[in-house]
Amino acid sequence: MPHADNSAATLFIDGEWRTAAGGDTRQIHSPADGTLVATVAEASRADAEHAVAAARRAFDDGAWASSSAWDRGDLLLRVSDILVRDKAEFARAESLDTGKRLVESEFDMDDIAACFRYFGKLAGTDSGRVVDTGTPDAISRVQYEPVGVCGMITPWNFPLLQVAWKVAPAIAAGDTFVLKPSELTPSTAILLMRALTEAGLPAGVGNLVLGAGAEVGSVLAEHPDVDLVSFTGGLHTGRTISALAAPTVKKVALELGGKNPNIVFADADFDTAVDFALTAIFLHSGQVCSAGARLIVQNELHDALVDEIVRRAERIRIGGPFDDDAETGPLISAGHLRKVEDYVARSVAEGAVLRTGGGRPEGERYADGHFYLPTVLDEVQQGSYAVSEESFGPVLTVERFTGEDDAVRIANDTHYGLAGAVFTGDPAKAQRVANRLRHGTVWVNDFHPYLPQAEWGGFKQSGIGRELGRGGLGEYQEAKHVYQNLRPGPQHWFSGE
Ligand code: NAD
Repeated sequence: MPHADNSAATLFIDGEWRTAAGGDTRQIHSPADGTLVATVAEASRADAEHAVAAARRAFDDGAWASSSAWDRGDLLLRVSDILVRDKAEFARAESLDTGKRLVESEFDMDDIAACFRYFGKLAGTDSGRVVDTGTPDAISRVQYEPVGVCGMITPWNFPLLQVAWKVAPAIAAGDTFVLKPSELTPSTAILLMRALTEAGLPAGVGNLVLGAGAEVGSVLAEHPDVDLVSFTGGLHTGRTISALAAPTVKKVALELGGKNPNIVFADADFDTAVDFALTAIFLHSGQVCSAGARLIVQNELHDALVDEIVRRAERIRIGGPFDDDAETGPLISAGHLRKVEDYVARSVAEGAVLRTGGGRPEGERYADGHFYLPTVLDEVQQGSYAVSEESFGPVLTVERFTGEDDAVRIANDTHYGLAGAVFTGDPAKAQRVANRLRHGTVWVNDFHPYLPQAEWGGFKQSGIGRELGRGGLGEYQEAKHVYQNLRPGPQHWFSGE
């Protein structure tokens, strides 16, 4: 297995496993208990440049770009089969790197295999369209062609799912790529390259470099031989990548952070609203870009709803990825834990009321991990630091509203626009509110479900979605995905009793 190889030959460039040119390595430690889980190559700029050159040659050679889209689709279906076959190995590696509960990694693997299957079936189904010229003496057509060499930079929270959303459509389209996953969670990207090779991906088409963003990722953003840089990660890094990409005017796709509103009207089903409010923010300890971090609750429901959320948040069982009784796990790193601690301290200093959490759990079992308690900050003010900044941790902020207009105004009062939800028993109100939210995905009486066939893109500073320029009115339209649960009820993700 490459990622356990002592030689750390874990860069995949031009069809070969390689060590870093300078021989550097990086150790990956479990966020749950600090144990060493992998030693991988730490690439340099030179390694990234070699990988870009390999991807460029593989694209310019023309054989891959002009290969049959059906064949590329078949390759993706084979990858999906391998992911299903090797699910246990992938899920374990993902949990070791992230500290995420094994069962969640297994769910992610199902989504990842589905993503490859979806794009495998999509390849070749839509290669363009014929355009009426108004004369029999000419024909005219629009055809879709690969962009070229894609630089892909991904985060650590859903490591392989974020990779899959980039790699699978790129292969379907006939692009070549250089992938740089988060330096904190490289293991499943390594396993994926092995799976792509087994499925028959030609040398040079898919390349993997591992290492720090500023050193290795920046090469992918800057390099003139990269045609598209596709990035998922934080807003500030997204701005840096945009700036690095500007001199070469390459295409830029950004999936950035969110500070996502969860609006609960007084006429919502109480148990459902409580249950989803907990899942929305405390799943994966809040390390979800679309986490429902802002609870926006109608005034008359506030006390009852927040009391019950606090009661149940205090019962959430925290533990390591392989602990049977754990319902959520650690934060990814000591640095991220400090960031969450600072966020809570600053929010409280500016007036937020700490209702529960606000610290690390006590006990031997948590001593060597980056754990943080589920936290509720009540009575936060619109425009404050607490509701403006993403904590990316298990921290729920609570705001109040009076009526529908008020709810929409508060929920839209953010520079982010990734996702949001509305809970109400009135379907017409749900649609009105969903239509007015300036967020790329809106769930009605639900939270978190995503579909690979639906758009996933941020409004405002949450990004430039992958739908950009595709059909319709192109960049003059946003694509919003509205998902309505018609039979809402508690999911009991957190047992809470
Ligand atoms: P991050 O921005 O710190 O890092 C993401 C990636 O960028 C990593 O691979 C990192 O090495 C690389 N990077 C960092 N600096 C770079 C630079 N100067 N040049 C090139 N690459 C660089 O983000 P993170 O902490 O890994 O992930 C958390 C963030 O990701 C959160 O803000 C979250 O909301 C966001 N996210 C968004 C989505 C989405 O779909 N919109 C999905 C998941 C995560």
